[in-house]
Amino acid sequence: MPLIALTPSWNDEKRQMCLGPDYIDAVQRAGGAPVLLSFTDSEALADEMLSRMDGVLFTGGGDVNPACYGEEMLPCCGAPADNRDQLETLLLRCALRRGMPILGICRGLQIINVCLGGTLYQDIGEQYSHDLEHPRNDVPRDYAHSMSLVSGTMLRSIYGADEIQVNSRHHQGIKTLAPGLKINAVAPDRLIEGVEFADGRPLLAVQWHPESLQDRYPEHRAPFDWLIREASR
Ligand code: MN
Repeated sequence: MPLIALTPSWNDEKRQMCLGPDYIDAVQRAGGAPVLLSFTDSEALADEMLSRMDGVLFTGGGDVNPACYGEEMLPCCGAPADNRDQLETLLLRCALRRGMPILGICRGLQIINVCLGGTLYQDIGEQYSHDLEHPRNDVPRDYAHSMSLVSGTMLRSIYGADEIQVNSRHHQGIKTLAPGLKINAVAPDRLIEGVEFADGRPLLAVQWHPESLQDRYPEHRAPFDWLIREASR
């Protein structure tokens, strides 16, 4: 059974690592063994942890420090967790070097885009101008808006549909796409909500939360099934 590394959130008030149970349920249901990693600022230790793993899931959570993409933090940006930014920066570098399959969810998509050289809207409500207001829905198990999957992409292939429904719990989003990534999912307001590598390396990242939908809507098991399939090779 493949071991899937999960990245932890940081609760600064309690000074504790944490992770919502939906990620664990989704990985277990797909046939993987989830393993929560610890924080480190050592690349050697990050790589040692990954050396025992078969895949990596960059989980959701708080905002990436805008310093990571060369911007001043605006009042609309959430509180940063530099230990998390640092851990995930190291893990992505090590996982890519090892050729490991990578799934990014919500913040996971955002940190991947940033680490590869892209930038984020610090708040889509304030910074992303469009006729449509991007809906937010803090009920994680309900659909919030539709999503167009781009033909010819891996994501389109694993979901097997041109359009799906998704939840939406993010207030940030991709502003400039990192070099090497291609868009695989676009919201009705044209916000980028999914990316993968243009060269076919095994990485999928989505802005929505399939882990919270997959129990009720089986089509959202697809990203986890993909991860476990790739991690079993
Ligand atoms: Mn959305």
